[in-house]
Amino acid sequence: MHEYGLAEGVLATVRQRADGRKVAGITVRFGVKHAVDEESMAQAFTFVADGTEAAGATVTLVTVPAALACRDCGQVAETTDVLAACPGCAGEDVEITGGDEMTLESITYEPARGSAAMTPEEARDALAALGAGEAMATEPVRGTS
Ligand SMILES: [Zn+2]
Repeated sequence: MHEYGLAEGVLATVRQRADGRKVAGITVRFGVKHAVDEESMAQAFTFVADGTEAAGATVTLVTVPAALACRDCGQVAETTDVLAACPGCAGEDVEITGGDEMTLESITYEPARGSAAMTPEEARDALAALGAGEAMATEPVRGTS
C-alpha cells in the first residue's frame, strides 16, 4: 500500500492550495509507473485527510500512460502496462519512457456557506476539472489616460 505515502504528498499540496476552504473533490494524475490503484488511493487519501479541510473529498485518479518503443521493429505506442510487450511484433525488447509524473490536476471546493458565487480561483479550478485548464481567464487592463 505505497498509496499512503503518495496520498500524504497529495494532501500536503491540497491543503496548501485550499488554505482552509472545504475540499469537495480532487483530481490527481499519476504516471503508470507509480502503479497507483484508484480505490487504494481513495482509501489512503480518506485516511490521511481525516480531520483536515479535505476530509471526505472524492478522489479521481487519472493514469498517465508511458511511451513504449520497440528496439526490434521500431514500433512506438502508448501503454498503461509497464511490463508490456511490443504490440507490433510481440517482442519484449522494448523501452518504456515517461509515465512517472505525479500532478495535482484540480481541486473542487464546497460552495461557501450563504453564497453561490465562485472566486476566480474556484472558477479556474472548475475549468480545469472540465479539462479546460488552458483557458486562462484574463481580463483586459484598461488604460488610465
Ligand atoms: Zn516490435
